[in-house]
Amino acid sequence: MLAHVDMDAFYASVEVLDRPELAGRPVIVGGGARGVVSAASYEARAYGVRSALPLGLARRLCPQGVFLPVRMDRYRQISRVVMEVLASFSPVVEPVSVDEAYLDLKGAPILKAGPEAAGRAIKSAVQNVTRLTCSVGLAPVRFLAKIASDRDKPDGLTVVADLEAFLATVELREVPGVGQKSQERLRAMGLTRLTEVRALGAERLERMWGAFGLRLWELAHGRDSAELRPEREAKSLSHETTFHQDLADREALAAHLLALCQKLGRRLRHEGLEGRTVVLKLRHADFRLVTRRATLARPGADTAIIYATALGLLKGYPWPGPFRLIGVGLAGLAPAGQGQPGLFEDQRQARGRALAAAEDAVCERFGHQALTRAAALAKDGQHGHTGDGED
Ligand SMILES: [Mg+2]
Repeated sequence: MLAHVDMDAFYASVEVLDRPELAGRPVIVGGGARGVVSAASYEARAYGVRSALPLGLARRLCPQGVFLPVRMDRYRQISRVVMEVLASFSPVVEPVSVDEAYLDLKGAPILKAGPEAAGRAIKSAVQNVTRLTCSVGLAPVRFLAKIASDRDKPDGLTVVADLEAFLATVELREVPGVGQKSQERLRAMGLTRLTEVRALGAERLERMWGAFGLRLWELAHGRDSAELRPEREAKSLSHETTFHQDLADREALAAHLLALCQKLGRRLRHEGLEGRTVVLKLRHADFRLVTRRATLARPGADTAIIYATALGLLKGYPWPGPFRLIGVGLAGLAPAGQGQPGLFEDQRQARGRALAAAEDAVCERFGHQALTRAAALAKDGQHGHTGDGED
């Protein structure tokens, strides 16, 4: 079970906290280079003032509003306190922004009393320590926890106990990533609820929006990650290939994997990053997306090591396929050289690094197509377009 915790009108609430005489008045925080509203108290929202609105417009909508500049240092200070409170409930907390975080409550003692009680405990702890309110959503997957936390704002608590029943209530406009244009396009097809896009089918959604279409299809079935990425693991890089024709041949898959690992290795070294967790991604012909992870003995960015690890994951994957997509990523990224290399580095790794550096030099000179190892040459060619990701 995940919890998504979202502070209510955070910047504006902090201003009211620091100046109690503003309580109950429409407080609007904004300004800076972009000249837009960063936060509006609920009293200001009653006048139609929203985040991202130009300040001039906000002044016209709410002339009696109290307009204040952004004091980011102060908000960060309180944010640290909020995150500390959250960390007391679970070792796995993923801050998303200064006023928002996910908690993994799996195995957390607080969950023993049930999700509702857990949500209430989190809310009252945050309020006791900061004297600010937050809204909490609890759900088995990320995007539903986020939607749930937004349902009952401010000072709200929503528990997704029955996933399918809750899913049926989700409007497309609530779904993260579905912007105005996508909503309009779907509305033109008579679709306003998330589960209604199931009827379009995965192929059609993929034709409409590519990778985003497939993601929407998965969300429509309530499928999303339940895994959190705590701060130090938040950074990852990945590359993937979608085949024009589904592929089951393990050697051909391995060849694609090698090409992707080479790309990934080059990019990691180019950006001076190394990582600890190799992630293999496979999408089945029926669009099911699976990931498999393996942790390296020490952080690295060497193509050979990433490939050997990813290949091990592929070989260990028990289902035969066919697959629509293969991808590889490295997570837990940090600037290279922080893991005390050098002294204890074994020769094999040093050779791998030298080879990788030579590869990089050749690629830099002749372009990335110039250097492809034998296996990648063997089966590559007729299929596939590639994509990459980063977060
Ligand atoms: Mg918020």
